[in-house]
Amino acid sequence: MGLCDIHDIRAILGRHGFHFSKSLGQNFLTDPSVPAGIAEASGAAETRNVIEVGPGMGCLTAELCRRADKVVAVELDRALLPVLEETLAGFDNIEVVQGDVLALDLKALCREKFGDAPAAACANLPYYITTPAITALLESGAFTRITVMVQREVARRICAKPGTPDYSAFSIYVQYHAAAEILFDVPADCFVPQPKVDSAVLQLTPLAKPPVETRDEKLFFALVRAAFNMRRKTLVNALGPVLGSRIGKAEITALVESVGLDVRVRGERLSLADFAKLADAVCEKGA
Ligand code: SAM
Repeated sequence: MGLCDIHDIRAILGRHGFHFSKSLGQNFLTDPSVPAGIAEASGAAETRNVIEVGPGMGCLTAELCRRADKVVAVELDRALLPVLEETLAGFDNIEVVQGDVLALDLKALCREKFGDAPAAACANLPYYITTPAITALLESGAFTRITVMVQREVARRICAKPGTPDYSAFSIYVQYHAAAEILFDVPADCFVPQPKVDSAVLQLTPLAKPPVETRDEKLFFALVRAAFNMRRKTLVNALGPVLGSRIGKAEITALVESVGLDVRVRGERLSLADFAKLADAVCEKGA
């Protein structure tokens, strides 16, 4: 049985009366080199414990099971549970948990399943939860490595550098918490049903401490959000909505200048270090 073979996929799913759900982001891999490549890169062989999000019919799960001691796969769609029971019958190191990854306490799940041992996270993520799923995986603090397939443009956005069109508040959020790297691209014709967009495999390695120090993390991210909410405006104007009730435009201008930035700069050109300096200057001013 080939879990990426289109004829086997149709036969197994047909036998179980399964129909793909677009709203659950169900695009299954049909090129066996892709799940093998993701599993190899995931660190499953070293970490030994893996949480997978969205096993589908189990092609990536099987590759993870071949490399790890224990794989816990979280699948939302109950209709896939009997399918997975059949396709993963040959493995004794898999546990499928039915549930919504966004509603689970991932740290508690790891502690329950793996004790204090380190764990990796791995997924071909459903597109509709890409941002909240990556946020949940990072916020959990439960993983030493996170390897996920996402829409190619999202992967580019996450890894983008200051001043590039792809740079966004989410780039800064992820880069504050992890080292981010695109491992390889995966064209749309590697899936069934075929999505409209290409994908990429992204690896996040959570950092022991953020790459920049800031006195007030909440303020740091409030400034980042404000800057990108109005990315076409100058930083001084974009900061108005978040600081304007406390200090006037002249003072915002002085703050921006005090950290060595041009008063006409747009927020999209600022590095994480620039935002940290700015947040600290706002803190110092007591604004
Ligand atoms: N891993 C399989 C593969 O690579 O062929 C399937 C990947 S498919 C893109 C995404 C999977 O995530 C589907 O099985 C879908 O049912 C599941 N899923 C969707 N939303 C989910 C959620 N909130 N929590 C857990 N799984 C979810």
